[in-house]
Amino acid sequence: MTDAEVLDAVAAEAGWMEDLLVRLVEAPTVLGAEEEGQAIMAGAFADAGLAVRSVALDADALRAAPGAAPFSWDVDGKRNVVGDWAAAAGTGRSLILNGHVDVVPPAEAALWTHPPFSAHRDGDWLYGRGAGDMKAGLAAMTGAVRALARAGAAPAAPVELQSVVEEECTGHGALQCLLDGARADACVLTEPHPDHITVAQVGVLWFHVDVSGVPAHAARASRLGFDAIEAAYGVLAALRALEARLNADPPAPFDAFEHPINLNPGVIAGGDWPSTVAASCTLSCRLALYPGEDPADLQAQVEAAVAEAAAADERLTARVRYDGFACEGAVVDHAEPVVIALGDAYARVHGERPALQATTATTDARHFVRSGIPAVCFGPRGERIHGIDERVSLRSVTESAQVLGLFVRDWCGLV
Ligand code: ZN
Repeated sequence: MTDAEVLDAVAAEAGWMEDLLVRLVEAPTVLGAEEEGQAIMAGAFADAGLAVRSVALDADALRAAPGAAPFSWDVDGKRNVVGDWAAAAGTGRSLILNGHVDVVPPAEAALWTHPPFSAHRDGDWLYGRGAGDMKAGLAAMTGAVRALARAGAAPAAPVELQSVVEEECTGHGALQCLLDGARADACVLTEPHPDHITVAQVGVLWFHVDVSGVPAHAARASRLGFDAIEAAYGVLAALRALEARLNADPPAPFDAFEHPINLNPGVIAGGDWPSTVAASCTLSCRLALYPGEDPADLQAQVEAAVAEAAAADERLTARVRYDGFACEGAVVDHAEPVVIALGDAYARVHGERPALQATTATTDARHFVRSGIPAVCFGPRGERIHGIDERVSLRSVTESAQVLGLFVRDWCGLV
């Protein structure tokens, strides 16, 4: 297929991709409720001519795997959905296209202009939780392959499309695909990274600090009680001091960021009555680490910071728990063939080469990199990711699918 034939074939899928995106956004696939989205993706893969299979999450296998994160919730019955586009020859390079179907909660539904799972459209923008991160990417990668398949093409090496779960908390969906034997010469994750290819990312640690106080009647609080909620302020201050040390001398490429390592106290829960001194408080945080660093080393630093805060008051006890992300960063060399080939495809659609960037977030790319598969992120233009009124440009869905269509043709070869 010529460039023009690929671009036209993918453009003809714009309506199909938008319809898929709308149905995905209308499925509120937060943690534990991913299956409605996976059923939609199974149908979409089949409609694109792919052989569809499920990869069930296996809690025991995940817990034993290198790169796994601790998790307390039940994963029984959860699955990734994989679409295989079989090779018609053995001459090309194989490829994994990966996207996650899970989304973070809406943060505060009442703040949204339109309900977060209503898939409201306004001009070029499609609004909704997960529209950008990253259901548009799932639609784009599937639409690109559907366009090539409907034009009668078949790849010269296997192409595997993955719709995975749990990217936003552990990455265990992608990890399970790898444990199940997924291998390829490269992987592209169609995260909302427009105008650039993401080649480096931080690692992320989730931790939970359980602070204990001494409950008492509020009327006698100053004499008898010790408030766990107020004590959590001191713990947070010690963690902020750790964060400042971690940002003092960032290694390249993260020295380009003003503040690459972010501590986010995302959830706080404590106490049970306004007139009772709070007996307990849990502070749940996310903190990042640089590539090459071991999450276990950061865990030790977090525990030291919490111990330091606890030492300031003998009534304060604080225990650190781990549940969720404990992952390393990842870097892919700029000279990797996948970076060059995807950049070439981008340049033929947009007339200039994409920037190669680092991100201060994590993605599932690290699991592929750890497994020896060069993995980069590129996808549609999403905005307000994890925020209010998240949205994605529909034109960018088609354009990124066109880039992916050219890239698949060049990387794998078409028969
Ligand atoms: Zn994402």
